[in-house]
Amino acid sequence: MLSEFQLIERYFRRAPRSAGPVRLGVGDDCALLQVPEGETLAISTDMLVEGRHFFAGADPRALGHKTLAVNLSDLAAMGARPLGFTLALSLPAADPLWLEPFSEGLMALADAHQIELIGGDTTRGPLNLCVTVFGSVPEGAAIRRSGARPGDEIWVSGSLGDAKLALSALLGDIAVDAQSLAVATERLHMPVPRTALGLALRGIATAAIDISDGLSGDLGHILDQSEVGAVVHADALPIGLALSRFELHQRQAFALNGGDDYELCFCAPADKHQAVLEAGRQSRTAVTHIGSIRAERGLQLLGADGQILTLKLQSFDHFNS
Ligand code: ADP
Ligand code: MG
Repeated sequence: MLSEFQLIERYFRRAPRSAGPVRLGVGDDCALLQVPEGETLAISTDMLVEGRHFFAGADPRALGHKTLAVNLSDLAAMGARPLGFTLALSLPAADPLWLEPFSEGLMALADAHQIELIGGDTTRGPLNLCVTVFGSVPEGAAIRRSGARPGDEIWVSGSLGDAKLALSALLGDIAVDAQSLAVATERLHMPVPRTALGLALRGIATAAIDISDGLSGDLGHILDQSEVGAVVHADALPIGLALSRFELHQRQAFALNGGDDYELCFCAPADKHQAVLEAGRQSRTAVTHIGSIRAERGLQLLGADGQILTLKLQSFDHFNS
């Protein structure tokens, strides 16, 4: 059996990158991180709990990816550049058959973002994965939830609903053909943090959030914090590939209420329309204009011919489900 320190040494400590913000990584009492001059630290923590966020026996490589991806997604939503991250890990046993693929999945995504694991904590216990990411953003440039203004256009990146479809299928709530299930499952297990888009939206977006609990609920957070309302055109929603064989109302319900997509929902002034499209091109990320902000509070959903839709809006709440 590996000791705690052998485990850290073998799976989580790697040679430091020479260039970069990390002055001291894994191995001391603290890590030391250099924040670029004139920038503010952006910090976010997200925890994945077995039986709650993933099924027991879930693929460890995908878990390694997802536990970092969901945190990077929060930085992206603020327009912050990732600097490094820590990992607090509780696991039932020091099993190399789990640790190896887990650390590979984690490190592959870290490498793709050129960031390092700079520290953490390891204990024995029920499987529980908690990453804290550190990023930076020029002072005053962070994209908050509170900046949306009447007249702003509302946009989302990528496509919505597939992750929820996969979850519903895995729970046995809905039948899906094998091909669609494969596409949807990839979206659920391997979310792509929209880091490059978040960076490209600095100075353009007035407000942003990453969609972890469903578009309706997460856009609702922007509306609440910005003290505004919105009109969203249901037929404009970019709907996930795996949902293409479902009926329209079902596709739209998944796209509106499904969580775990980790796309960005953001607002930008109408005169920045071209700049948003350019940010999408620059970051190779699809961006879709889905509606607009208005002063009148509430979220109104319009159908193709302008009629008001009454799709049930419902997002995920850990203490209410
Ligand atoms: P301390 O007792 O000071 O909290 P630990 O003995 O818990 O330190 O950890 C030793 C070193 O290993 C520290 O630098 C810590 O940040 C790092 N570390 C512990 N667990 C992990 C982990 N899962 N991933 C990365 N680094 C870790
Ligand atoms: Mg410790």
